[in-house]
Amino acid sequence: MRIIIDVHSGCCNGVRKAISVAEDYLDEHGTLYSLGAIVHNDAEIRRLEQKGLRAVGYQDFHSLKGSTVLIRAHGEPPSTYRLAEASGVSLIDCTCPVVLALQKKIAAKYRELSSAGGQVIIFGKRGHAEVNGLVGQTDGHAVVVESMDDLEEKLLSGVIDPSRPLALFSQTTKDPEEFAAVAARLRQAASGLEVFDTICRNVSSRHKALREFAASCSVIIFVCGRESSNGKVLFELCRSVNPRSYKVESAEEIPAGIFRPDDIVGICGATSTTRWQLEKAASLVAGM
Ligand code: SF4
Repeated sequence: MRIIIDVHSGCCNGVRKAISVAEDYLDEHGTLYSLGAIVHNDAEIRRLEQKGLRAVGYQDFHSLKGSTVLIRAHGEPPSTYRLAEASGVSLIDCTCPVVLALQKKIAAKYRELSSAGGQVIIFGKRGHAEVNGLVGQTDGHAVVVESMDDLEEKLLSGVIDPSRPLALFSQTTKDPEEFAAVAARLRQAASGLEVFDTICRNVSSRHKALREFAASCSVIIFVCGRESSNGKVLFELCRSVNPRSYKVESAEEIPAGIFRPDDIVGICGATSTTRWQLEKAASLVAGM
């Protein structure tokens, strides 16, 4: 049996940076609050909790006066910055530069379109932290489209009005093919549509590479947190080319008896999966 770790898997730049900033702060101060889970990855969260990281919510701000709260790579809406100021909380802003640029782009387009009666549409997961941050740039007016069915429903019900100027953006971690399909359908319906492919290159470049990697192995062990939406997309992509694909949250969940002596086992993960988790999975497989 051969075991290969996908060279393109592991945390993306934005998540890696947020974790490293948190660790540096914890080494110096011992405690740090993070607004929501710093990464959709329970094993990594447990490791950081042992160093003193505590996840908090908006409702906790009033009791955190004088404390420091980290904003994770997903970013936050403007209301969070106002809340922190009003609560006397200092922020360490780890919003990924790619997300920050997208927030600014959406805010500018919203200002431009508002005066022309237009609409901003965001292809993404409703309620996801990054999407909340993006919608916040439009004072809550952007329309979130989750899927093709959702788009059809919104066109039918008039929530999206194709006779108005429209601008389509994407959450950074969405599937490029799905985004292309949504853009094509909207183009068909609306003449005044601008499309901004804002999928992060860290993600879109992974799709092609991961598809090739999964197809070249006989078994895939995909390591990612249950809450990782990017993990769900990337795992489905693996499964579409390799039916012997298994998704596990930690190396210990790898099912027994699934390997054959001549297997090539590929180990890979989401943009929130750390390198140490991939290495641990590889060493566990080697001992099976
Ligand atoms: S996926 Fe891309 S945009 Fe999102 S946090 Fe990672 S590097 Fe930033």
